[in-house]
Amino acid sequence: MTRDDAPTLLAVHAHPDDEAIATGGVLLQAADAGWRTRVVSCTGGERGEVVGEGMDPEEVRPRLGEVRRAEQAAALEILGAGEPLWLGYRDSGMVGDPGNDDPASFWRAPFDEAVERLVAIIRRERPTLVITYDAFGIYGHPDHLQAHRVTLCAVEAAAVPALQPAAGPAWEVSALDLATLSRSAIAQMNRMLPEHGTVSPFGDETDPDALEVGTPDAAIDLVVDVRAQLDRKLAALRQHHSQLALDSFFVGVPDEVAELALGTEAYQRRRGAVVDPRDPLAGLG
Ligand SMILES: [Zn+2]
Repeated sequence: MTRDDAPTLLAVHAHPDDEAIATGGVLLQAADAGWRTRVVSCTGGERGEVVGEGMDPEEVRPRLGEVRRAEQAAALEILGAGEPLWLGYRDSGMVGDPGNDDPASFWRAPFDEAVERLVAIIRRERPTLVITYDAFGIYGHPDHLQAHRVTLCAVEAAAVPALQPAAGPAWEVSALDLATLSRSAIAQMNRMLPEHGTVSPFGDETDPDALEVGTPDAAIDLVVDVRAQLDRKLAALRQHHSQLALDSFFVGVPDEVAELALGTEAYQRRRGAVVDPRDPLAGLG
């Protein structure tokens, strides 16, 4: 049971399922340590593929947003993060997808409007710590890039009393962490996953310095070991049934593969003190 005066962690994500994949371990660690945790999704994930076992894509696609809202609620229950929060935009799809041009998409949203919506949430939820993605949106998806930009601006704007006075009293977020992928961890996955009979989603480059995706270790502030939370992180991920084919990378992989891919979470800290990597929550709240 969370105390009324418990500090709040607010995670800002682009689509339902990102919260579990990218930050599920830290959300669980925070909830276990008595924090109040909340997750806002900028879109409903309407452009995702329908690949869930037993799902007819033709039948599910028109109501995918609704299906993913229910999946999100189930995942957040496992993560202990309360009811889902929504920014109210549509999924823009990957780069080049027709969804990029949808005027209701997050990518096409008026920037100030998106920031204002998030400022209202920040002032209401009063988070001590906000988490979103690194400047590349971890892997370049337009909605992830937008989530990064909107969150950085909203954290600044929420603290300025003269901006959006109708959204409530100004609120100063103490720390802002950006979820990223470590190049050395990607290189290790690319080297070791084939040994376990699995193809790495990041290709076969095993030299961290030759990778274009991910962040060099020197630019990472925090690597959090979430192996103790891995069972629940995977259970939360598997609530996103519509997104997970039976042969999906995230379903049914051996424990050692899941540990390699999802057992650590890397962050860059953009605001607030850099904390002891062995205790990501120390020194806050
Ligand atoms: Zn996403």
